Amino acid sequence: MTNLIEAHTHADLMPYEAYEELALKGVNRIITHSCYVGATRATTLFDHYHQLLKIFTNNAQKNGLKLFITVGIHPLGIPEDWPKVIDILPTFLEKETIIGLGEVGLHFDTALEAEVLKSQVELAKSLNVPIDLHLPPKNRSEVVTKTLDILAKVGIDPQKVVIEHVHTDVIKMVNEFGAYAGLSLGEGRLSPQDILENAPLFQRGMLNSDYINFVYRRYDAVPQAVHWLKLHGVDVSFLEAIAFRNAEECWKI
Ligand SMILES: [Zn+2]
Repeated sequence: MTNLIEAHTHADLMPYEAYEELALKGVNRIITHSCYVGATRATTLFDHYHQLLKIFTNNAQKNGLKLFITVGIHPLGIPEDWPKVIDILPTFLEKETIIGLGEVGLHFDTALEAEVLKSQVELAKSLNVPIDLHLPPKNRSEVVTKTLDILAKVGIDPQKVVIEHVHTDVIKMVNEFGAYAGLSLGEGRLSPQDILENAPLFQRGMLNSDYINFVYRRYDAVPQAVHWLKLHGVDVSFLEAIAFRNAEECWKI
């Protein structure tokens, strides 16, 4: 396959050579989700979005890849003046390669996180754009319940929602809600074997590496998983769905 989509990475943290390597391994589109851990000011996030639009879009272009971007406030970097970010996000969303809101959601499950999340879900609904939601490694069922509750109260279309980092623990709740599921690969997350063994649960999944450079992750986890799944006889239409079709449908790319 030569039209794979890396559906959730952090392109600003990828080494330069990763872009070429992904292109060589059959990826042609990358979705990078904004996340600036420890942001204390709205302006930090604006500079971060500008870097994604310039430096990292350019890195992708030079290697024949198309970079798509989401913007938003990640729970690990909520600026003190966060309402200023909410005010300016619609301006960023007018840009052609900014395709939605992300990565947003609950991490420590605080009242502030819930407030910031609700504002962003309301914005996604009013602008009719998709939204990408983070899940933490702990208290996952509680966090999914609260997240889905906020989504339902705002009344956003589930077809515009991606719940990230799912595993067999929460996938049924995500499926019942009708959202897409981010299939993040790697240690402590989904393996290609988990996906093969539970394929019926992951029909609305999108493969991704969620690459960051402060824990061990592989930026080529998507082509690696596709290769492994093919070798192990996975159904081709299922593989195409999780490798690019679901992301195309949800993000309109
Ligand atoms: Zn991420």
